[in-house]
Amino acid sequence: MPEIILTELDSRFRDRIAAKLGDKSFMHCFACGSCTASCPVRRLDEKYNPRRLIRMAILGMKEEVYRSEFIWICSYHSTCLNRCPQKVNIGAVCDAVVRMAEEEKKRGTERKAGERLAETNARAITKEGQKFRNAVRALVPEVAACFICGSCTAVCPEALIDEKKDPRRFIRKVNLGLRDEAFLDEFKDICATHYRCESRCPQGVKINRVMQALRELAEEDGYTYPESLKELER
Ligand code: SF4
Ligand code: SF4
Ligand code: SF4
Repeated sequence: MPEIILTELDSRFRDRIAAKLGDKSFMHCFACGSCTASCPVRRLDEKYNPRRLIRMAILGMKEEVYRSEFIWICSYHSTCLNRCPQKVNIGAVCDAVVRMAEEEKKRGTERKAGERLAETNARAITKEGQKFRNAVRALVPEVAACFICGSCTAVCPEALIDEKKDPRRFIRKVNLGLRDEAFLDEFKDICATHYRCESRCPQGVKINRVMQALRELAEEDGYTYPESLKELER
């Protein structure tokens, strides 16, 4: 949790979230951490922490909440809600906070917060990233339905050999618009196309088609075939 500076707390922030949500129940959080323990986004990186996010919202740490990447990344699939003893709907809180942040930015009434929000947006997904994501989604529309359950990774033989070869993480890069990271990820060239992942995906994501789309788009954009694979083919 970032340092709490009392003079910078916004005592009305949680009431504004409650008004936006039409529900005060997120204030009943008693910081048990069940949400964090079950959150698939958290498994990607420890910095994504729903319990901390709710704590910051309740304390009035508005700037920190707006700057948090988590509010943009939370995929709102309610694993946490099912586990939460207080029935806090964290996905809905993230959604409300994102809408509040966007409204503040639009009105321009809190210029400083707006500037920080723009930075957060830029970090979360750039224009180039959106263009890339749209290009992949045009070829494989169901990629947007991935809710990062990890069923694909659990059955992927490549992931068993090397944890860096992670289909869930790869699909996430696409949905976050991380173009360069996806293009430079050799997993798309190594994937053995045996469909085990697809047979397990509850969302029907055709992971092999995503890999193929990425290979084609990378080639169109001038990304070269990985040197490591050229070596293997010699
Ligand atoms: S599971 Fe619910 S009560 Fe527990 S920390 Fe998360 S939001 Fe709070
Ligand atoms: S809704 Fe958000 S916080 Fe809850 S488990 Fe899903 S990604 Fe994590
Ligand atoms: S199994 Fe499907 S929904 Fe789950 S992480 Fe993989 S692609 Fe996403």
